[in-house]
Amino acid sequence: MHKKRSGRLTRRGFLRLSGGALAVLAGTGPFGLLSRPGYAQKTAARIVIVGAGAAGIALSARLRRALDGARITVIDRRETHLYQPGLTLVASGVWKPRQVESRTAAHLPRGVEWVRDMVAEYDPEANRVITAGGQRIEYDFLLVASGLQVNYSAIEGMSADLIGRHGIACVYDNPRHAAASWQMMSRFMEQGGVGLFTRPPGAIKCAGAPLKVAMLTEYRLREAGTRDRAELHYLPAGAGLFSQPDINQFLKEHLPARGFTIGWNHPLVAIDPGKKEATFRTPEGLRTMGYDFIHVVPPMSAPQAVVDSPLAWQDGSFGGWLEVDQHTLQHRRYPNVFGVGDVVGTPIGKTAASVKAQAPVAAANLVDVLADREPSRRYNGYTSCPLITEVGRAILVEFDYDLKMVPSFSFIDPTEQHWVPWVLKERMLQAAYNAMLRGRV
Ligand SMILES: Cc1cc2nc3c(=O)[nH]c(=O)nc-3n(C[C@H](O)[C@H](O)[C@H](O)COP(=O)(O)OP(=O)(O)OC[C@H]3O[C@@H](n4cnc5c(N)ncnc54)[C@H](O)[C@@H]3O)c2cc1C
Repeated sequence: MHKKRSGRLTRRGFLRLSGGALAVLAGTGPFGLLSRPGYAQKTAARIVIVGAGAAGIALSARLRRALDGARITVIDRRETHLYQPGLTLVASGVWKPRQVESRTAAHLPRGVEWVRDMVAEYDPEANRVITAGGQRIEYDFLLVASGLQVNYSAIEGMSADLIGRHGIACVYDNPRHAAASWQMMSRFMEQGGVGLFTRPPGAIKCAGAPLKVAMLTEYRLREAGTRDRAELHYLPAGAGLFSQPDINQFLKEHLPARGFTIGWNHPLVAIDPGKKEATFRTPEGLRTMGYDFIHVVPPMSAPQAVVDSPLAWQDGSFGGWLEVDQHTLQHRRYPNVFGVGDVVGTPIGKTAASVKAQAPVAAANLVDVLADREPSRRYNGYTSCPLITEVGRAILVEFDYDLKMVPSFSFIDPTEQHWVPWVLKERMLQAAYNAMLRGRV
């Protein structure tokens, strides 16, 4: 475990430092050259970006500035941009849904063409994508930034329209689900009963979110004075709680100390909303548990169009995720293809913080390849998550491919709950995220 480093920093002192804190989080990064006007590379290349989420928008902004004359096309049907790191705050009644929604059009840089459609087929041999609407769009360079897919149907009896009914919550996907989850949590706070918190096998976006929802529910019950009326079970699919070992150890002690029973190796396989029963496939066989409140986290995968394409990993090592080199983010078989964000098949990641670290690398490496150079930038696996333990406190988890902690703040023990990561999460990270979308950090 890390040594305690919690200093005597006051809130006022921290807010005085906050300009510096934002700079640490937002960092000017090693690729400042890309953001400087006057260094744009002349080219007539056709660049297609699939997805206008966190990664797609950040890439379009960077490449728009780095390249002079390129034809940049972004493909995505979604008109509403979602600040997904705010969804746990919506699901716990801290934020309103409107705080996480904005217009995609407001983020896309001028001079970029936006095709409001979805890619249905990738044809990397012909350097072409085909959209659901039947458009064939050819490219010289392709950036895949299409996020991931939440697979509700992988759980028998589960569908998205059940969220907000029968005690079912799910923070993933959109603000409507998050707000409906807050309604279910509020009812549980009044009535108590059995609460189940699931975590599926495989990679998911923001692996901290299922834990945050569990801990925030426990906090809200205490706050409402009904904690003694509730029985809480945390049910991960495997034998761990978090991939980073220090944080895993912290949680193994922290959850039981807050009265959670941990049911190891409990992947959720079926739900019966009418009976309010959930079934898990445990090493001892199927186990059915009754519940009054359940946070369902479905298994996730790359979007189907990627899974079905030649761009997915072929040797099974990362399922159907995009086959990129984990450091350069260049496709391992198609050198004119790069990937950023949740869609990539790398050992860790799937956070907006990873996108912030990846986008400058992929953009700079694409410029290298375009100029006939070897990709020169490397992504070290940086990922981060302010793991909210209760309203007002969190731990700031930051680590890399080696699962080594890489804390931004020397004055906070990364395994100790503190108000600073909470203030970052609640007040400051959205501004850093928006700067990332503009390609400025
Ligand atoms: C509940 C929750 C809490 C989170 N908390 C945090 C946090 O605290 N910190 C943090 O750093 N990260 C957090 N994240 C994770 C973070 O939001 C994601 O990792 C990030 O948004 C990934 O960006 P992306 O661009 O890869 O995917 P997205 O932002 O999801 O965008 C993908 C886009 O691709 C589009 N698309 C999909 N398929 C196609 C297709 N075939 N053709 C065209 N377009 C397509 C979609 O419409 C979408 O607009 C959280 C996520 C959730 C859900």
